[in-house]
Amino acid sequence: MKKKVIGKILFAAFAAALCAGAYFAADITFFQFGGEEYQETGAALFTSEWFSAMLPFGLILLVSAVCIALDVLLRKLLYKKKKLPVGKTGITARDKRKKRFVFGFETVRWGVMILSFALLIYGGRLFGTVFTNVQLPVFACPYNLEQLTNAGCYYFSHLDVLFSESWQAILAFFGTFLVCAVLLGRVLCGFVCPMGFLQDVAHEARQALHIEGISLNEKMYAVLRLVKWVMLIIFLGVGFIGGNFCDFCPAAAVSPALAGFKLSLGLGGFIMVIVLVSGFFKRRCFCNVCPLGFILGLTHKLSLFKLKKNAVACTECGACYEACPMGIKSIFTEREGKDIKKLDVTTSDCIMCGECVRRCPENNALAITFCGKKIYNADRMKFMKQYAPKPDKYAPFRGKDKP
Ligand code: SF4
Ligand code: SF4
Ligand code: SF4
Repeated sequence: MKKKVIGKILFAAFAAALCAGAYFAADITFFQFGGEEYQETGAALFTSEWFSAMLPFGLILLVSAVCIALDVLLRKLLYKKKKLPVGKTGITARDKRKKRFVFGFETVRWGVMILSFALLIYGGRLFGTVFTNVQLPVFACPYNLEQLTNAGCYYFSHLDVLFSESWQAILAFFGTFLVCAVLLGRVLCGFVCPMGFLQDVAHEARQALHIEGISLNEKMYAVLRLVKWVMLIIFLGVGFIGGNFCDFCPAAAVSPALAGFKLSLGLGGFIMVIVLVSGFFKRRCFCNVCPLGFILGLTHKLSLFKLKKNAVACTECGACYEACPMGIKSIFTEREGKDIKKLDVTTSDCIMCGECVRRCPENNALAITFCGKKIYNADRMKFMKQYAPKPDKYAPFRGKDKP
């Protein structure tokens, strides 16, 4: 048995080496942005050029899948040897409860995410460049020249370029950024950003495959916060020392490829693998260190969207904290304030994903509001519909009182 497992690991390692080799080969021959093959428009969908532009993204997916398979195999091996007991290493036990589909906030969020993903990548092609001067501070990658919007992300990571523009352009950028931040704030992260979407897809894939996730403790979240500060300094400052953040941006390895632009992967491709693999095991892992998300969160006090808590209804079960992909503890611990029935527990890290509200079993203990009006609140009935085990109708015949 032991030999079998080692054999599988060796096979997976061999496959990973093959993928990495192909990845590098692809990187060498593929188009470099700004090079001779520079194209103003992406290849038509489903043509051979489009598939060739998609190849780097395909390789990213393949390498990510191999890394995930290796991790799973390794953990199986370690479990077998009993060197990695569940609960002591940050590895959670498998959640056997199946989530049932209930139409609501989550469905709308997925709908908006899918639409945004399509619009930010294919919007230019579908609608022309009508909205091209809107500065949307998300993943509207400027390397995808058919994008619907200009990239706020580009200007934040190239402040030297921004400050060399006219004062009207600088004001327009900060003005539209502030409008976006106040109106939507980090709702952009929860609903619009395609990097967030891809991580959510990875998370759903893990759940569908019944693979154990990895839960982080407070110390690990503290480390991620440190990484976030480092990323922020690099993000804002690299342009001033002659660097280019886009050279290692993971998003730049995906958006142009999907739009049909051939682009060199460079370091960004490897970082994208890390984003996908980490997002597979820990929901929205990259969002915990994303510098753009941090900038979007700075205006959370002004944002029209809020997360409110009724401390009277809350039973301090901690389910919200356990479910929160950003590890925000105050949603569970906060109990004091002027009006304890309407505590504002919005923080700069909150991406408004609504997961805490969905997992809260107490009526109205948590709610997401827009301009003070509740748009989504914790509901015991919905919670039971989604998570309570189905009654076993054959239980009486098996001599059981309860299902
Ligand atoms: S934190 Fe960054 S990667 Fe995550 S959704 Fe927000 S902008 Fe996108
Ligand atoms: S899940 Fe609801 S009841 Fe439980 S701690 Fe969070 S807010 Fe309170
Ligand atoms: S606090 Fe709630 S809405 Fe905010 S990120 Fe955490 S789970 Fe999502």
